[in-house]
Amino acid sequence: MTPIRQNCTILWDERNHAVVVDPGGDVDELLSQLRGLTVEAILLTHGHLDHAGGADELRERLNKIQSDPVPVLGPDRRDAFLLSSIEKQAAHFGMTGMVSVVPDRFLESGETLQLLGHDIEVRHIPGHTPGHIVFVDHGSRRAIVGDTLFRRTIGRTDFAYGDAPALIAGIRQHLMSLPDETVVLCGHGMPTTIGEERRSNPFLVSER
Ligand SMILES: [Zn+2]
Repeated sequence: MTPIRQNCTILWDERNHAVVVDPGGDVDELLSQLRGLTVEAILLTHGHLDHAGGADELRERLNKIQSDPVPVLGPDRRDAFLLSSIEKQAAHFGMTGMVSVVPDRFLESGETLQLLGHDIEVRHIPGHTPGHIVFVDHGSRRAIVGDTLFRRTIGRTDFAYGDAPALIAGIRQHLMSLPDETVVLCGHGMPTTIGEERRSNPFLVSER
């Protein structure tokens, strides 16, 4: 999605119920992808505009066509300052169509969401942003990690609020502890697995 080429993830089940993770923008395109699906929730990993800039509009438009209201869930409340400044972030990048969003509920590390018949655990990994969370589906061996861990690299920490040691420590504690076969869906670029990154990610291997 968006000129920043961020990955928005749509998960759906055999009942055609869906969850949307990190709708950064391009809401018309998203709604056409979601045709025929009932969205149970919109999840946010963190407050950056390319991940959260379309959430408010998507919620509003889905609420007009679905019978049950669609909640925006997450990130951790330490990203509230980012969610409320999305227009300002967008102006900085010269982008339009991205707006600030107030989630229906912030999420906390350790809680488990029941969505699409799956248990999805929330884990807090600060460093890229203070309130960044990831979503771990242990049953499906899948993690949606936003801008924490990427294929062969990690998220940027060169913001005023960035913290590289915290990011690496959080990835080690909350992601590298998962089984090797866990599929990792990243906020940008191709998916990877925990095992691949354990073997090949220079930010993780070199610090062993
Ligand atoms: Zn980000």
